[in-house]
Amino acid sequence: MNKIKETVVISGKGGTGKTSFTASLVPFMDNAVFADCDVDAPNLSILLEGETVEEEEFSGLQRAVHNSSLCSGCGQCLASCRFGAIKGDFSVHAPSCEGCAVCVHVCPENAMTLEDAVVGKVYESETIYGPLVHASLIPGEETSGRLVSRVRGAARELAEATGRTGILIDGPPGIGCAVISSVTGADSVCIVTEPTLSGLYDLKRVYSMVLRFNPAVFIIINKADLSEDVCRDIEDFAAENGVPVLMKIPFNKKIVQSLSNREIPSVAEADFFENLGWKKALETI
Ligand code: SF4
Ligand code: SF4
Repeated sequence: MNKIKETVVISGKGGTGKTSFTASLVPFMDNAVFADCDVDAPNLSILLEGETVEEEEFSGLQRAVHNSSLCSGCGQCLASCRFGAIKGDFSVHAPSCEGCAVCVHVCPENAMTLEDAVVGKVYESETIYGPLVHASLIPGEETSGRLVSRVRGAARELAEATGRTGILIDGPPGIGCAVISSVTGADSVCIVTEPTLSGLYDLKRVYSMVLRFNPAVFIIINKADLSEDVCRDIEDFAAENGVPVLMKIPFNKKIVQSLSNREIPSVAEADFFENLGWKKALETI
């Protein structure tokens, strides 16, 4: 079986142009599966406008369920739950339950049990560029690293089953467990940043997190003309750490416009990307 190359695009925080850059790569990736692991803001799946061909429920955790017919009303569960998840009638407020099982252990009547809780769905969609795996969370549920792992796992299963040679992932922003789940074991990681002091700070944090997993790392500076000084600081940081700066993308209103028109920037503004050395960047990652 051919090795499947996995490339993940992340950023230290949201709103840096991560999805815009990922979407711009999509039309140029031959024989790839795409995965939207930014499950809180699944904008890649919105941009690619796929048609759902499969979906599965995702049970990321277990939660307590109260059986009122067995309950004697002793109140031990209510007194023991540290998460305030048990209501006055001893039923469970599901979004507050952490599945710690304390209520199950203290209940003398076996009226509390843990059951799998469905927190979202994982979808496979067909787009004009290839298959896309993405997910949605039930409102009120939190992003979990396990859901991101499931999206990645489904993308890999699909790539193996269909003989694809690459997986391109739009990762979550930040440095939390969802990001760690998206980069663990990836072949290359593209970090999208912008030249602001907070952008540089976030870049340093996310870079030190990514280093632990030893992928090839690239930096993309979006809105590169926002501050010459901070842009230079980012380039210095990249040079000190031996990380290639793949692209410096100046601010361009037309890119913002293309996104609001649900168009892929590298297609809608092909000349702009061509002049930035897009082809060389594509060959590098
Ligand atoms: S499993 Fe834990 S968090 Fe959930 S209701 Fe029971 S004690 Fe509370
Ligand atoms: S501990 Fe068990 S029996 Fe007591 S109130 Fe809670 S569910 Fe009912």
